[in-house]
Amino acid sequence: MTTSRSVLVIEDEENLLEALRYNLEHGGYSALTAADGAKGLETARAAQPDLIILDVMLPGLDGLEACRILRRETDAPILMLTAKGEEIDRVVGLELGADDYVTKPFSMRELMARVRALMRRPRKQAAAEPLRSGLLTLDPEAHSAWLGGDELRLKPREFDLLALFMRNPGRAFTRDQILERLWGRDYIGDVRTVDVHVRWLREKIEAEPSTPARIITIRGVGYRFEG
Ligand code: CA
Repeated sequence: MTTSRSVLVIEDEENLLEALRYNLEHGGYSALTAADGAKGLETARAAQPDLIILDVMLPGLDGLEACRILRRETDAPILMLTAKGEEIDRVVGLELGADDYVTKPFSMRELMARVRALMRRPRKQAAAEPLRSGLLTLDPEAHSAWLGGDELRLKPREFDLLALFMRNPGRAFTRDQILERLWGRDYIGDVRTVDVHVRWLREKIEAEPSTPARIITIRGVGYRFEG
């Protein structure tokens, strides 16, 4: 007995959704569909699909936010669909833990090739590798972080912030960029939220929080993590 592997498609464009369903089923997969981010999360939790195709531009909960949440909950590969000109979204999508992306308009042939490639990939590969920097270790899979032999007690946003920094050593982030990546585009709040979380994180990972050696302040810009 063979059980076909399942693909969840989260896309609000009805024609594209149906075309994807048709091609997936034709390719031997069982297809599940959702027309917005919230329904997508619901379906992913209930059905535990083997792969998720996720559009960036969705009504309500957008694809980036959905990706961030899904990545914490599942190790199924996530393939993002992006529109042209969404350069930043692409990068953000991959940093959020997506495994691959295709840019619209794409051919079904190309998309199915990506789907097959992701399905062949051994599970728990890309996102699961623990991140290391000096004595710091962050394991996205186990959702744990360590400084030497001591496990760090990080709140969810502190964990996400450290993961963002450790995935991008030496790269400067503005407060706005951090805010958007961690709190989402629709967050109505102050960039000082970022400063507060950086301060909390420093207290946990810096030997001398007042003279930080890991999370460096770039005056007038934001922060950079020293790898
Ligand atoms: Ca869309």
